[in-house]
Amino acid sequence: MTTPISTPTPSCLAEGNLLKYKWLNWFLRSRWYPGIIQWPTLFLFVVIIYQLFLGPTKAHDNLGTALTWVFWWPVIPIIFLFLGRFWCAICPFATINDLVQGFVGNNRPVPKFLKKYGIWIIDASFIFITWSDHVWGVVSSPVGSGVLLLVLTTAVVTSGSFFERRTFCRHICFLGGLAGNYAQAGMLSLHGTPEICAKCDTAACYNGTENFPGCPVFEFPRVMASSANCVLCGDCLKNCPNGSIQLTVRPPTKELWFVHKPRVEAAFLAAVIMGIVFVQNVTMLEIWASTLAWLESVTGTTSYYVNFTITFIFAIILPVSLLSWASWVAAKSNHSSFKENFTRFGYAIIALDLAAHIAHNLFHMLAEGKSILYTGLALFGVDSHGASAALVSTPTIQALQFGLVGFGFLGSLYILYRITNTYYTGEVVWSTFKPYAVLMGCLGLLNIVLFTLPMSMRM
Ligand code: SF4
Ligand code: SF4
Repeated sequence: MTTPISTPTPSCLAEGNLLKYKWLNWFLRSRWYPGIIQWPTLFLFVVIIYQLFLGPTKAHDNLGTALTWVFWWPVIPIIFLFLGRFWCAICPFATINDLVQGFVGNNRPVPKFLKKYGIWIIDASFIFITWSDHVWGVVSSPVGSGVLLLVLTTAVVTSGSFFERRTFCRHICFLGGLAGNYAQAGMLSLHGTPEICAKCDTAACYNGTENFPGCPVFEFPRVMASSANCVLCGDCLKNCPNGSIQLTVRPPTKELWFVHKPRVEAAFLAAVIMGIVFVQNVTMLEIWASTLAWLESVTGTTSYYVNFTITFIFAIILPVSLLSWASWVAAKSNHSSFKENFTRFGYAIIALDLAAHIAHNLFHMLAEGKSILYTGLALFGVDSHGASAALVSTPTIQALQFGLVGFGFLGSLYILYRITNTYYTGEVVWSTFKPYAVLMGCLGLLNIVLFTLPMSMRM
């Protein structure tokens, strides 16, 4: 195992504590936070569920579908970039978990298998939900979207009934892996001040006090070196008797320049997300129909299950294989193991993942954005059929997509540069950097090509 040359401490990641702003400090410590945002979000969730099951049957006309897939889903990676996992603090599933726990919670410890394999279950459920969206048409069916939300609600209620804190959010939620990866590239970081925490003997941030519960996602700010799990709920800030908690802004991707304990499952998911972005793009292309027809002639079956699953597996295997190839080449010169290379450098894909994901979602937000207004107006009898749902023109969307992918590519290259310089010196730096730079080039180029091709609307 190669040891890192430099190990930055959390305090050296700090750049300006936002809690110096008195109004923000007061708000985050008050009983109003996060409830003042949490409860309206839960109300909106109920409206969405109602609309999905009892509203218009066509996705194009349904406010629940528009709010979920044209607003929430595209906005979520942007929130992770600017505000870390703040969404998870106000997510209706987290609120439902807390409500259920208040009434029937058994508060049992998290099962060992969830602690050990939870992240793999999260990765697998994220892949499964993406696959099922395509084969069962979840997004294009209001009832399908409603069923998905109810299945998740059932899982939350079950988890909240039996297990302590927010076990669902930390160990089960399908968004957890993606949120953790993106929050590490995010610009907001919450952590304790090492010098203050070192003298503390209460650990009130983790254990809680009579006024506020302990960290809902089992984090301990004294040793928390990553933003992957912190949901910025503010409980530790309210509980800490020593004013140790800091909320700082940092350049995007900075946490990825050195990851204290890189995990192979996070690196694997980084590559998988790139494949999922590919498949989301490919299936929206106008040439998807002819590609499918060609695939049908090759496989000899018209089954969409079969032909889409082949495309899906290929799209996911492609970036995982490219990362494996780069790790195999790099391992020959830097003498770290293949797994060490795969795990450390897989994190560098996250910047490109985030950029490509936002770029893809930009299409939904900007080309279909007005559907939120139209479906909302339809509730009051205003008919907007035939009106364009686009907020801006297609060339403008494409220009933004190319710009985002460009930034993501540069971000990934810079993370590579930092990681290689952390672990290696001399010529090994360059020989390690090269194969991964080729990997990022291939992934970036593939994204550019896909965004160049005409896409068709989903709503
Ligand atoms: S954050 Fe506060 S309560 Fe938690 S270990 Fe540090 S000083 Fe103690
Ligand atoms: S570390 Fe603090 S802000 Fe983050 S989830 Fe735990 S209690 Fe909430």
